[in-house]
Amino acid sequence: MTQQTETKNFIEICPGCLACYNQGRLTFYWFQINKDTTLEQIERALDVEEIHRRAKTPFVCGGEEVHIQDNDFGGGEYMLAEELFGYVELLKLVPNFDYIRAFKDVYLMEDEFDYKTKEPSNQFKEFADSVQVFDNIDEQNTHLEYEFMEIYDVSETDRLYHYIDWSTVRHDMLIDMNRAEVNGKIYLWRGI
Ligand SMILES: [Zn+2]
Repeated sequence: MTQQTETKNFIEICPGCLACYNQGRLTFYWFQINKDTTLEQIERALDVEEIHRRAKTPFVCGGEEVHIQDNDFGGGEYMLAEELFGYVELLKLVPNFDYIRAFKDVYLMEDEFDYKTKEPSNQFKEFADSVQVFDNIDEQNTHLEYEFMEIYDVSETDRLYHYIDWSTVRHDMLIDMNRAEVNGKIYLWRGI
């Protein structure tokens, strides 16, 4: 249905030193997390000495606390390495990070994990199971119309077929669906 196009298949975080920040110095660097990133690598990325090394700033602030000064996926400021590694776990359920961005576009932050079991949440699993991806609005609309025909057992040979108000059909079909647009693609999945 969809053509595979090149996508930015990583998320980025910007680990920074809080002590430096409070002293008016920006000590940070950008770190990429992809599907091969290990928990150990993320732990190292969030190490305060590593941050100064990568930011090429002498470690004279005596800082201990790390905060994530920026990120490109709507993450939080004080995420732990385990939480960040959770994104790598989510990727096992979907083809790329854009799916996670689409999910986060609709749900609140942290809905994607079950923090007790450290596993993707049921909500995310259901999303991963049912999400459909379209390259454009025409593709999406065609899909909605076919789905309607299937549900109500309508065929093009039915006498009343040409009297169906398709724009109302599409509108109604979307009512209990979630929809997000990320990087030019449309993500559509059933609401929970
Ligand atoms: Zn510092």
